[in-house]
Amino acid sequence: MLLIHNGRVVDPARNFDGSADVLLEGEKILRVGTKLDPSPAKDVQRFDASGLIVAPGFIDLHCHLREPGNEPAETVESGTRAAARGGFTAVCCMPNTQPVNDNASVTRFILDRAAATASVRVWPIGAASKGSLGEGLAEIAAMKDAGIVAVTDDGKPIATAKLLRHVMEYARSLDLPVIEHSEDVSLFAGAVMREGATSVRLGLRGMPAATEAICVARDVQICALTGARLHVAHMSAKDSLDLVREAKRRGLAVTCEVTPHHFTLTDEDVVYDSRYKMNPPLASRADREALLAGLADGGVDAIATDHAPHTQASKDVEFDRAPFGITGFETALSLALEALVHSGRAPLARVVELFTSGPARVLGKSRTIAAGEPADLTLFSTEHRWTFRAADSASKSRNSPFDGREFRGAPMATVVAGRVAWRREK
Ligand SMILES: [Zn+2]
Repeated sequence: MLLIHNGRVVDPARNFDGSADVLLEGEKILRVGTKLDPSPAKDVQRFDASGLIVAPGFIDLHCHLREPGNEPAETVESGTRAAARGGFTAVCCMPNTQPVNDNASVTRFILDRAAATASVRVWPIGAASKGSLGEGLAEIAAMKDAGIVAVTDDGKPIATAKLLRHVMEYARSLDLPVIEHSEDVSLFAGAVMREGATSVRLGLRGMPAATEAICVARDVQICALTGARLHVAHMSAKDSLDLVREAKRRGLAVTCEVTPHHFTLTDEDVVYDSRYKMNPPLASRADREALLAGLADGGVDAIATDHAPHTQASKDVEFDRAPFGITGFETALSLALEALVHSGRAPLARVVELFTSGPARVLGKSRTIAAGEPADLTLFSTEHRWTFRAADSASKSRNSPFDGREFRGAPMATVVAGRVAWRREK
């Protein structure tokens, strides 16, 4: 048994915020309450959570673990170690591995690697189309039996409205959400950042916000046609969020996520350094303001990292040639506290919701601290001062624009299935 005592439990699913002890037995939560005192005869490990927030286990809807196929950049082992340090108890890994996770044997391989090496739970996401090539459907039903929690062709959108319709009809019958990397590829072609004064000054090819919103509009239409669940990944633009808000008003099952880099940085922060190159690219100030408003008021459902590790060698090339993506597990919560809580934009419970019951709902799951629930908890401090050093990251990759950034607030311990998967040492 593990007793987490003296903490402040913040559980948005139950609308609870107050001091409470949490007693874990095996892989489940046994009891929640004040002054929980198991009989002295029992073998109880104690975790003093004084000064800490005790939250339901964080879920990351969007990451790249790179295994199989690009183990020099990341593995299930290293990636989930970084996830644990970020307070995540479960991470959803995108299917654009080599080979692509478009069939049950790749899904099973990832889950086998997770069972053997992972620090946190791994929930694979399957490809929507074979090889994510946008032609025939992937083996969605077989992958669902093997354990996928959603489908996507992430890295790019599902190629055509017709294919999206088929995917959504199929996903609906299997009760899986369809996650879209919403992008009009013709408008994006060749772009490496957002179009604007900075792209002109740097002489880099830009893309307009419409690149994303055009595709979101299409996706919402097919969602309405099929009745499937649509989740818009790494949303970066105000116009896209307006479309999602409108779809929600119409009662459609549309949700969306925003990454910490999109609510923290803008295209004005981009310098000729590939750690500022990601897709979708950093957006305008007005876009960032709209995303922050959506995170605060419920227009946005989840914060997701889009953790996208790349080796130094692959990122250390000209901006134009570098791959898209940055690492994100270890800085996500601290960036959210900075942008939302310390700024006074949103209450703490709302930020916890964006990492817990928000993403859980997207997957059709629940996330709460109650007897009988899985013993997954995230313990964090809103005040702990620390500096992120990419060189000290548990990830195999170092491609973060937040290297050297000083933070107020940090994950302090991650509990998965009743066991302390990671605990901050200093
Ligand atoms: Zn993507």
